[in-house]
Amino acid sequence: MRFEIITIFPAFFAGIFEHGIVRRAQAEGLVGIGLHDLRAYTHDRHRTVDDRPFGGGEGMVLKPEPLAEALESLGILPLHNRVELQVLRSAQDDTRKVGGTRVILLSAQGRPFTQAMARELSQLVRVVLICGRYEGVDERINEIFCDMELSIGDYVLSGGELAAAVVVDTVMRLVPGVLGNEASGEFESFGVADAEISSDEEGVPRSQHGAGGLLDYPHFTRPAVFKGLAAPQVLMNGDHLQIRKWRREQQLRKTLKNRPDLLEGAVLSGEDQRLLETIRRENGD
Ligand code: SAM
Repeated sequence: MRFEIITIFPAFFAGIFEHGIVRRAQAEGLVGIGLHDLRAYTHDRHRTVDDRPFGGGEGMVLKPEPLAEALESLGILPLHNRVELQVLRSAQDDTRKVGGTRVILLSAQGRPFTQAMARELSQLVRVVLICGRYEGVDERINEIFCDMELSIGDYVLSGGELAAAVVVDTVMRLVPGVLGNEASGEFESFGVADAEISSDEEGVPRSQHGAGGLLDYPHFTRPAVFKGLAAPQVLMNGDHLQIRKWRREQQLRKTLKNRPDLLEGAVLSGEDQRLLETIRRENGD
């Protein structure tokens, strides 16, 4: 899988993709990252990428021409007509089924970026990420070239670079082969909500982490006692059934406390429902 990042600050990414899993995935050839300096697609002496907004108002806007040229250099077809664009989109969609390209504009006005979306993007061959700056990008770039606008959260960054790094990191680790254990992405927080919860004979869900749409459970390691606080005894006794039960209960507790909205879409067993009721009663809800 390949990520192409279009930015006015390619040096921003120096170092950011050179650690841990992202570095290894590139070294093993599972993932490639291309950085494209928007200024390389300008033709004036000052390498101008921005201009004043039509209609007046604050700040500057990224001009469409260098962005269009950068996209064209990546083989992304330019269309200047909405109808033609729709025809192209449906044609492209067919090719995308067998692994194609998505062009994404990073924007605070975009659809929220979620783990589910990351899973979808990880199936593709190529993701092109456009990093906005200033007040944003001339809207025609979005209309003509972009499959979607993506926001990494309800706050405003000063540029799309951090958002691009978040998307690359999140999507890349879901590309098959990148994580040591293929299933481990599935069993983290925001794991597949509609996955079957497989249980053992005692009815305890097998999931080790956040499968079923819950948050992950808390983790502990040595020392057993840290600053007077002991790690939970149940994790020390080697009883795997008890450990799984405890972990599932912790997932429910954490999700109820920090992200009760996730419970709506989570896949919960009868036992989960009973536990939740107990926790809610304990909390006086
Ligand atoms: N005027 C824009 C607005 O109010 O929505 C904000 C522009 S922001 C200062 C500059 C660039 O940062 C945007 O074009 C976008 O690429 C990026 N950006 C800001 N917040 C973002 C977010 N939450 N998610 C993704 N990209 C973001």
